[in-house]
Amino acid sequence: MKHRESTYASPVTDQRNKMARTFDVVVIGAGPGGYIAAIRAAQLGLSTLCIDAWKNAAGKPSLGGTCLNVGCIPSKALLESSENYERVVHKFADHGIGVSGITLDVAKMQARKDKIVDTFTTGIALLFKKNKVESMHGFGRFAGTVEDRYVIEVAGEGAVETVEARNVIVATGSLPRGLPGVEVDNELVCDNIGALGFGEVPKRLGVIGAGVIGVEMGSVWRRLGAEVTILEALPSFLGAADEQVAKEAYRQFTGPLGLRIYTGAKVASVTRGKASVTVEYEDREGTRHVTEFDRLVVAIGRIPNTGDLNAESVGLRLDDRGYVEVDSSCRTNLANVFAIGDVVRGPMLAHKSSEEGVAVAEMIAGQAGHVNLATIPWVIYTSPEIAWVGRTEQELKAEGVAYRAGQFPFIASGRARALGETAGFVKMLADASTDQILGVHIIGPFASELISEAVVAMEFGASSEDIARIVHAHPSLSEAMHEAALGVDKRALNI
Ligand code: FAD
Ligand code: NAD
Repeated sequence: MKHRESTYASPVTDQRNKMARTFDVVVIGAGPGGYIAAIRAAQLGLSTLCIDAWKNAAGKPSLGGTCLNVGCIPSKALLESSENYERVVHKFADHGIGVSGITLDVAKMQARKDKIVDTFTTGIALLFKKNKVESMHGFGRFAGTVEDRYVIEVAGEGAVETVEARNVIVATGSLPRGLPGVEVDNELVCDNIGALGFGEVPKRLGVIGAGVIGVEMGSVWRRLGAEVTILEALPSFLGAADEQVAKEAYRQFTGPLGLRIYTGAKVASVTRGKASVTVEYEDREGTRHVTEFDRLVVAIGRIPNTGDLNAESVGLRLDDRGYVEVDSSCRTNLANVFAIGDVVRGPMLAHKSSEEGVAVAEMIAGQAGHVNLATIPWVIYTSPEIAWVGRTEQELKAEGVAYRAGQFPFIASGRARALGETAGFVKMLADASTDQILGVHIIGPFASELISEAVVAMEFGASSEDIARIVHAHPSLSEAMHEAALGVDKRALNI
């Protein structure tokens, strides 16, 4: 394998290290955090190795981590397929388009998804080649230090290889949180991997956890025909979202979409049968229910993947939940060791991981990398979509911040009417005295795209007046953002 040797001296102290190659940067993990960090480090002239252990269902190494293999990309491919199915079955008739003999070929839908995943995961290998990042398949763990360098052992298919790193970026991501006593087999009881791979539409699908995965995957299989029941432990629904958005989402998901969502549900037991799973739970009133499902998805959050890193061998500090402890610049307690993405504090989002990767690579190269966690957009890819940036109304109230709110419903948008997607609204929150935008919350069509305007505005410290004075194309969904901004000053024009 080709690699660029480090510019640093590499004195050897023992036989093992005589064999070890030295890199300016060794990245452990090739998810959206790690692979982007590696590319940026190499772009900046640093000799860079990226180690990754992921194997796909066929047992082949596959770069891209959770996001590309079993997260963002495959879930969005299935979301699109299921939305198309929904359109053709339920919505085309409104447009005067009659379609008969509609069929659903789940195997083909899955093959399309797999092809998209394959294109992107193999694409990373090409990006590595183009940027001169060396890639190594295997499991990386700390194995001590040699002078000012960290020793990393990589267990691949053959012998364990040892490399040395002047700088290390830990980007080992996260794993699904398990429900105590419940074994995931990804046949009957599934995590995100199984939930993305069903070969047929389950008649009765149970989901434990009404978080982002629960509502996204629940929506996919509901649209394709499953009866979906979601059991959420907390009394509230989508607690991180703005309360008004969460309320509208609950109305849409339990109404037109037909998800059964039970909040305040306590799961007492999960029993696997031959071809079904029985879940016993208590509802919020304390009544006991026993329900049988053809498949069960457990989606109750994710935990940092630090278990086998051998962090203690170098004294890398983890917190009591297993996250690598970092400061606001992703620096760990060890000199020249950084950690990014799902394995550290902050939201578990692919774009947050990638931006931290860029920032850290730039810091290693002597530049001033920076990520503003306050303007990271959140998106939930349901229908309607949900997206937000900044603080929610309930957070502003709790902090005692005086604010003004402007809101515009999509039902009053010409473009939304033409699309036939009129549910939801855009809400803008701005400081009562300075008018600076503090948060924007959207539920509605293409919220994932619309939120970018709000992110840019907040990064530039814009006021609601700034957005109100910008010309927005007509007819476009972005006019809802414009009208929400006008609404902050109580001068909306179309409502
Ligand atoms: P990961 O993507 O988890 O990558 C870590 C990599 O490191 C893996 O390849 C792992 O095998 C490897 N690794 C771990 N330990 C070692 C080791 N010791 N040696 C070598 N390799 C190792 N986020 C969004 O922003 N948008 C979405 O739409 C979205 N959808 C999602 C849908 C689902 C179903 C799931 C599960 C997640 C979704 N996420 C989404 C979250 C997103 O996938 C994660 O935030 C993101 O993947 C985190 O990136 P990362 O690089 O930190 O870690
Ligand atoms: P989540 O944190 O979004 O939701 C987990 C839910 O499970 C919570 O509502 C929690 O209260 C509930 N829960 C916990 N224990 C429970 C129990 N015993 N019984 C019933 N409910 C229980 O986690 P997730 O949905 O597993 O997703 C993991 C992470 O992946 C998310 O936090 C998100 O960062 C990321 N993700 C992002 C996207 C996206 O950006 N569109 C999509 C999917 C996943």
